[in-house]
Amino acid sequence: MKNKSRRPWIGGNWKMFKTIPETLDFIRELLAGMPNPIRTEVVIAPPFTAQHALGREIQGGPVQMAAQNVHWADEGAFTGEISTRMLRDAGCAYCIIGHSERRHLFGETDAQVRQKLLACLKAGLKPVLCVGETLEEREGDKIQDVITRQVQEAVQGLSLEDMAQGVIAYEPVWAIGTGRSATPAAAQEVHAFIRRLLEDRFNKTLAMEKRIVYGGSVTPENIRDLYAEPDIDGALVGGASLKPEKFLALIKEVN
Ligand code: PEP
Repeated sequence: MKNKSRRPWIGGNWKMFKTIPETLDFIRELLAGMPNPIRTEVVIAPPFTAQHALGREIQGGPVQMAAQNVHWADEGAFTGEISTRMLRDAGCAYCIIGHSERRHLFGETDAQVRQKLLACLKAGLKPVLCVGETLEEREGDKIQDVITRQVQEAVQGLSLEDMAQGVIAYEPVWAIGTGRSATPAAAQEVHAFIRRLLEDRFNKTLAMEKRIVYGGSVTPENIRDLYAEPDIDGALVGGASLKPEKFLALIKEVN
């Protein structure tokens, strides 16, 4: 049975897609079609260049904004990087941390993920902490080892108050952008495992209250079965978040 006190959460990770006018067209259509009442927490992570425009458009409404990445330093000589303060300034409430594309294409390490997580918490940005195994790790029966390492290295020593912030996204690397989603049962198994990890490291209340969302080729067609699983609290969505009608359909399925 799903714990109904966990509000559904749907996030759209736009990656390196959409200009400012495209962002504005999207958000106007999304806001016009949002279910009312809305129980779901809806979050969009546009590219940095569109944050300011999106931030203004969503003020006071039911959609929140996330950044796709951040640097851990407050400020400094870090060409091409962006700080938590700049993200807050643009209107971000959330920040995606440790997305598999950052880890695998840009060499982000568990230690850096932790530094980013700490910086976000310090700045009042809610983390979307991404974890997930590669196909090789799955086939090598290493899922639990990888997830344990990624979660533990990120959250070790955090207070319960900090741990309560944001969500954890289980995103098997082989399922991202491939059209090959994990089956609901396979995803559920890992979500339940993450919840047990949280219970061991923190406590049962935290584990029961923490939202753990799934990511990896989620579509309006497969979200219902994924969300029906007791430990899946929503989704982080790439491809299917780029079209307002698809993103709305996803929101409506979990609302
Ligand atoms: C993602 O980028 O986090 C993601 C899950 O992408 P997609 O939905 O396209 O697989």
